[in-house]
Amino acid sequence: MIPKPLRVLGKGAAIILGGFVTLNIAGVVAIGALRSVAEKKRKKFAPPCGVCKGKGYYLCKLCKGNATIKWSPLYDPVHINPCVCPTCDGDRVQDCLNCVGKGYCLLVHLQELQFWLLNRVDFCK
Ligand SMILES: [Zn+2]
Ligand SMILES: [Zn+2]
Repeated sequence: MIPKPLRVLGKGAAIILGGFVTLNIAGVVAIGALRSVAEKKRKKFAPPCGVCKGKGYYLCKLCKGNATIKWSPLYDPVHINPCVCPTCDGDRVQDCLNCVGKGYCLLVHLQELQFWLLNRVDFCK
């Protein structure tokens, strides 16, 4: 037989624990929503990426937009074979490495998110 005060304590702990877990889940969802809103906001106001000029991609640096590279396994100038560029797979363009293909500047993303969180700015506007 468990003494009554202990059982009450157990029940209380369960409620607190349950509340904590719920809060945690809500927090994760809120941060997820916040991220997507921040992403949209950023897309609208962020300066375009200087490397790709806001396109999110640029001409493949390996094949220079030729889709193929001249490659010879033995460095034999006579037997040079054109082969599909391994970087762009023949697409002639590659994702911008500076902005990860997004086309806008990502550098201050985290600090800005923290700023919004701390100041509770209205995100829905
Ligand atoms: Zn870029
Ligand atoms: Zn290429």
